[in-house]
Amino acid sequence: MRDSAVDVGSKLFDKNISTDFILKDGKRIGIKTKSPEGTKVYYGKIFIIAEGMSSRLAIKSGLRKKWKIEEIANAKCAIMEGENNLNENLIYIYFKPYKGYGWIFPIGKNRFNIGVYTFSEDNLKYNLHTVYNEFLKNPNIQKYVKASKCKIIWSGAYPFPVTGILDKSLYDDNLLLVGDVGGFISPINGEGIHTAIASGKAAAEIAIDALEKEDYSKIILRKYKTHPDIKEISRTFKLKSSLMKFFYENEGRSLNRMLEIAEQDEEFREQLLGMFISKSKGAPPKEFFLRIAS
Ligand SMILES: Cc1cc2nc3c(=O)[nH]c(=O)nc-3n(C[C@H](O)[C@H](O)[C@H](O)COP(=O)(O)OP(=O)(O)OC[C@H]3O[C@@H](n4cnc5c(N)ncnc54)[C@H](O)[C@@H]3O)c2cc1C
Repeated sequence: MRDSAVDVGSKLFDKNISTDFILKDGKRIGIKTKSPEGTKVYYGKIFIIAEGMSSRLAIKSGLRKKWKIEEIANAKCAIMEGENNLNENLIYIYFKPYKGYGWIFPIGKNRFNIGVYTFSEDNLKYNLHTVYNEFLKNPNIQKYVKASKCKIIWSGAYPFPVTGILDKSLYDDNLLLVGDVGGFISPINGEGIHTAIASGKAAAEIAIDALEKEDYSKIILRKYKTHPDIKEISRTFKLKSSLMKFFYENEGRSLNRMLEIAEQDEEFREQLLGMFISKSKGAPPKEFFLRIAS
């Protein structure tokens, strides 16, 4: 994606870490960065902050605060290589009573991505490393992969926000937030690539409009929040957030029931899948919830 942006004319200042804004008469006129050659400064009319979870400039701007532990998910995963019984055409998702899930994604011959995540208050109730180690040793997982006999190609732990879009703090005078830093990551499954691109594109459109009008005030940049794509993502995420609460109610019993019904009923299964993947927009029909309740 970065290379595509460069191909169409973006300038890349690699190995520059933004540290703060440069202010003049209380207004943002540039940013300072640390680079191997020392401190550098860049001036601009509009700043589109796209720094992912780290959120340094977003916090410096005063638009938002650091993520709280209850607002994030914590994931631990590895890419492994070794003999396994996985079907390359499937992804494997496992639920336990905690908020979050475990997964195995086959990625070509003999390689797979395996991991777990917890979120919200369960970040405090469960130890991620214990959850991960128990997952690898679980007999249901061992049926497919014996992690202890596989080579670890890469492993890591990472947080991501799960509260949805920060629609009250997406813009300010000459400032826009896109991608993870603005909460553009699906609260239900942690997908954020598509929405990072969509928010970047919307922010670019609004920035072009502001440049043409030579007005970079938050009154003009407010249009970002009401951009049709941003409104739609926001609406979808709100819905997914409330579905998630329902999913994990009663220590996973509702979820268990949903999976049981899904095994028997193809239509229900499609609706359940639709809630997980980013493509689905609307809520499942009323009958979906009635069946679970019954
Ligand atoms: C291991 C892993 C697996 C994932 N899997 C999926 C998936 O399968 N599907 C999916 O849709 N999403 C997935 N996600 C989420 C997805 O990667 C993010 O939602 C998406 O990359 C967000 O894009 P972004 O541009 O906002 O932030 P990022 O991709 O995090 O990019 C931010 C960039 O800013 C740089 N940066 C940070 N601070 C500074 C600073 N101060 N100065 C300069 N540069 C800075 C970082 O180095 C980074 O290059 C995954 C995330 C992780 C960590």
